[in-house]
Amino acid sequence: MRNVVIMGSGCAGNTAAIYAARANLKPLVISGHEAGGQLSLTTLVENFPGFPEGINGPDLIENMKRQAENFGAEYLHGAVVDTDFSTRPFRLDVDGEWIETRTVIIASGASARWLGLKNEQKLIGHGVSSCATCDGFFYRNKNIMVIGGGDSAMEEANFLTRFGRQVTLVHRREEFRASKIMLDRARHNPKIKFLTNTVVEDIYDAVNHLVTGVRLRNTRTGKSWEEEVDGFFVAIGHIPNTAVFKGQISTDPDGYILPQGGARTNIPGVFHAGDVQDRVYKQAITAAGAGCMAAIEAERYLEAEGH
Ligand code: NAP
Repeated sequence: MRNVVIMGSGCAGNTAAIYAARANLKPLVISGHEAGGQLSLTTLVENFPGFPEGINGPDLIENMKRQAENFGAEYLHGAVVDTDFSTRPFRLDVDGEWIETRTVIIASGASARWLGLKNEQKLIGHGVSSCATCDGFFYRNKNIMVIGGGDSAMEEANFLTRFGRQVTLVHRREEFRASKIMLDRARHNPKIKFLTNTVVEDIYDAVNHLVTGVRLRNTRTGKSWEEEVDGFFVAIGHIPNTAVFKGQISTDPDGYILPQGGARTNIPGVFHAGDVQDRVYKQAITAAGAGCMAAIEAERYLEAEGH
């Protein structure tokens, strides 16, 4: 029987593990499908406080993990494939093996939605990004492209005009899903060029491990052409990783956990941390803060229950 099981090993999960371990709770961290979370997909992180020269995302994650292990946290490589929060102790099926625990911290994150192009994954962190706040700074006076037609794409395109020489917004349809105010703001920004009814067919240059351009196609005319690009930002939404406890933990229609105050969910003893609940900030530092909150709440819950 575990005191605390943490689902997810990104910033939120690792920070929860540090706090729970230092409270002598011997947490078990289930690493999940994308071990290390979003940071393990990035290169240089310059906005995490405490690293004036910046730090590589995977190194930051590894440091956090080692820090948690130093205080007694255990890590299990695998993914939670089923859950039962209807009984006490709670039960989690990790790749076929059921684990029992008094509390659960859900830090399973939200995965960026990608286009699914052949070279896209190879170039993440080398010109392909899903986070303008994180990576915009690297593209001063460069050619930037943003993909998407929702509020995220408008927000990212506007933000990126602070850095880029030009920002090209590529959307697959004529109509936009974005709210009128966000769309108007982007339309009135002289640095943003709109390409509608346009899809990306390929990203170059996977051989040299650096984004240099893309091939685009107009869906109406069928015409395809190439454009030079340095920073390629995919802003087509995120998918919160909540399918495994659907129907047990309350979520909004998009699947994000509905917070019930602090780090609480609708089930006492089950807490949330990080992007699995956060559709607004989605930063490493906010996820870390949320992990801290969840661990403190788990600790207090266990104490109140007499453990
Ligand atoms: P979203 O509203 O779901 O929009 C996703 C966009 O990506 C859509 O335009 C969609 O095109 C496009 N897309 C999806 N899959 C694609 C693919 N495979 N290839 C090309 N394009 C693809 O997602 P979001 O913009 O991240 O917004 C999510 C929620 O957060 C929304 O409720 C939004 O209002 C909110 N939000 C609010 C703010 C703000 O108010 N400041 C900022 C960001 C997000 P189609 O339209 O053709 O489907």
